[in-house]
Amino acid sequence: MKKIRQKRLKKPLLVTRRSKSGFGLYAGEEIKKGSFVIEYVGKKLNFKDSEYHQGRYLFEVRKHLTIDGATRKNTARYINHSCKPNCEINIKQGRVFIFATRNIAPKEELTYDYGKEYFNEFIKKKTCLCGFCDGHGGKIKKRIAVIKP
Ligand SMILES: [Zn+2]
Repeated sequence: MKKIRQKRLKKPLLVTRRSKSGFGLYAGEEIKKGSFVIEYVGKKLNFKDSEYHQGRYLFEVRKHLTIDGATRKNTARYINHSCKPNCEINIKQGRVFIFATRNIAPKEELTYDYGKEYFNEFIKKKTCLCGFCDGHGGKIKKRIAVIKP
């Protein structure tokens, strides 16, 4: 596990803009593999609270602890799901940190894998637009070209 010290977490330049699935978060500069991207922030809910909450931005950190990331200041909520992502989640002391899993070029969209539970609940019903799967999380051999309207 990586050691995470708050002071050393320098956030790279990030840009929010329209993507094929609504909004997305994009690299505003080159992000090196392994480096910190952003923290997923929001209201911390204990188990009792979260029973009464539902929504796309709930991030279950561990049993009895969920972060409600629906707040506008949570820029990380714009990161879309991908079946072949370029970022990953690193949970430390109840906080959710997002790191780059490979070098990311400027203007590239940032993605992470939302996990099976979320995928089945929210994405599968529609179609996964990541371009790396068959639209339902299944593997495809070639990358699907996404045709822009
Ligand atoms: Zn996909």
